[in-house]
Amino acid sequence: NRPTILIVGAGPAGLVLGNLLRAADIDCLILERQSRAHVEHRARAGYLAANTVRILTDNGLAAGLLRNGQQHDTCMFRTDHGSFELRYGSRGRGEVHTVYPQQDLVRDLIAEYLDRSGDIRFETRVRDLNDVDTKQPWVTCESADGEVHQWSCEYVAGCDGQHGISRGAVPADAAQRYRRDHGVSWLALLAQAPQSMAAVAYAVHANGFAGHMARSPSITRYYLQCPRGHDPASWSHERIWEELHLRMRGELHGRLREGQILERGVVDMSSYVMDPIQYGRLFLVGDAASLISPSAAKGANLAVMEADVLGKGLVAHLKGDDEQQLRGYSAACLPRVWRAQEFSHWMINLLHGPMGDDDEAVFLRGLQHARLESLRTSRSYQDFFAENYVGI
Ligand code: FAD
Repeated sequence: NRPTILIVGAGPAGLVLGNLLRAADIDCLILERQSRAHVEHRARAGYLAANTVRILTDNGLAAGLLRNGQQHDTCMFRTDHGSFELRYGSRGRGEVHTVYPQQDLVRDLIAEYLDRSGDIRFETRVRDLNDVDTKQPWVTCESADGEVHQWSCEYVAGCDGQHGISRGAVPADAAQRYRRDHGVSWLALLAQAPQSMAAVAYAVHANGFAGHMARSPSITRYYLQCPRGHDPASWSHERIWEELHLRMRGELHGRLREGQILERGVVDMSSYVMDPIQYGRLFLVGDAASLISPSAAKGANLAVMEADVLGKGLVAHLKGDDEQQLRGYSAACLPRVWRAQEFSHWMINLLHGPMGDDDEAVFLRGLQHARLESLRTSRSYQDFFAENYVGI
C-alpha cells in the first residue's frame, strides 16, 4: 500500500500535520528515527503563542495543554541599571503565553494521531528522498534492525528538524538559502526545581546573559551565556548555581530555588531560512524549513503554524480539488517566518551586550541600555514587544 502523504519526523510539525490530515480522513504515514519513549521525553520548548493554542484548540489537539498549561503574561529584566517587569499580557494585542512542555505536547499529539487511526513507525530512519519533483516521490528508510524499506507516495512533508535530510533533497539552484551565525552560545539547563519567580526573567550581566523560564511546577529551564565551543560537562553543579545567582542578582531579588540539573547542552544561536520551502511535491515544515534561535521562543510556534497552513492546503487540494492554497504554501508562511526571525534577532541584541572594554563594545552596550530603557518607559515600544513576543 502507498500512503498519500509521507511525513518524515514526529516532532510538533509532523504530528500536528498528521493529525490534521487524519481528521480529514487522508491517508498518511509518519516515519520517525527515534523511539516513541525518546520523542515523548525530549525536553525543549515550553512557551506556546496564542496563535498556536488557537490552532491546537480548533483542531481538537489542546485538551492536555488547556488542562495542565500555565498562562504567563509577564517577563522581567534585570540589569546593572535596575530591574523592571513588563506585563506584556496587557500590551499589544493583549495575548498571553501558555506554558506547556514540548514533550507533553508531543505525547498528546501521538496519542491523538493513533486515536485517529494514524500510522506511525518509530525507530525508522529515512535515508533519502527521491523523485520529489515527479508525481511519484519515494523514500528509502531503515528500521532499527537494519531492514531497508521503500515507500512511494503522492506528497512528502519534510518535518525532520534542524538535522534532518529533507532540506538536502532540494537542489542548490531551486531555493535561496539565508544563514546567520549570531556568534552567541547558551548553556541550556533543565533543573529539578520549581520556578523561582512567577515570570520569565532575562538578566543582562557583565559575565553574560542568564535566563529563567518555567516549564512545569517542578521543572525550570535556565540559560547561561557561555563561550562558543564550551564543554557543558565542565560546569560543576556549584558553579552553575553560583553563576545563575550572580547574573540573576540573587542578593538583591532573592535567591533562586536550586535543584538537581537534569539536562545540560550548549545551543549555538544561529538562523537559516530557505525560500521557497517547497520543491515539486516536497514541503518543508518547522525547523527543516527555517531554524530560529531560541532567544524569542518561536521555533515550535512556527512549526505548528506551518503545519496548519500545509494541512489546510493539502486537504483543500485532495478533498476539494483546489490547488491554490497548496501552491501558495511558501508565500503564506515565509513573511511570518521572516518577522519572527527579525524579532528574534532584535531579542539577541537586547539580551547580549558585547564583552570587553574596547570602543565598539562600550558603544554597543550603550545602545543596549538605551533599548532596555525604551522598553521600560515607552508604551509604544512595549506594544511592539508584546505583539511580537506572543505573536506569530
Ligand atoms: P523537531 O522537534 O526537531 O522534530 C523533528 C523530528 O524528525 C525528530 O523527532 C527527529 O528525530 C526526526 N528525524 C530527523 N531526521 C530524521 C530522519 N532522517 N528520518 C526520520 N525521522 C527523522 N521553541 C518555542 O517555540 N518555544 C520555546 O520556548 C523553545 N525553547 C527551546 C529550547 C531549546 C533548548 C531548544 C533546543 C529549542 C527550543 N525551541 C523553542 C525550538 C523548538 O523546540 C523547535 O523549533 C521544534 O522542536 C521544531 O519542531 P519540528 O517538528 O520542526 O522539529
